[in-house]
Amino acid sequence: MGIVRVVLLCIAIWLLWIVIKKVRLKKLEYTQKISKTTPIEPIQKCKFCGLHLPEHEAFQVSGRYFCNKDHFDKYLSLNSDRE
Ligand SMILES: [Zn+2]
Repeated sequence: MGIVRVVLLCIAIWLLWIVIKKVRLKKLEYTQKISKTTPIEPIQKCKFCGLHLPEHEAFQVSGRYFCNKDHFDKYLSLNSDRE
């Protein structure tokens, strides 16, 4: 009688192990899918201070990127002084 219980317990543990493995694999596939479908956003560098930031957060003026409008104004005033 005892050995039947041990065998049943072993089968139960084995089945549980298979289920856990499948769930882990699905999670891994899901995270891989997400990382594949998520587009990598280009990083832009502020022309004034050199800060790197995602393109959608950057302040863009005629192909030049700035971290904020203040740096754009400062860059513009510095460049107009030189010319
Ligand atoms: Zn800046």
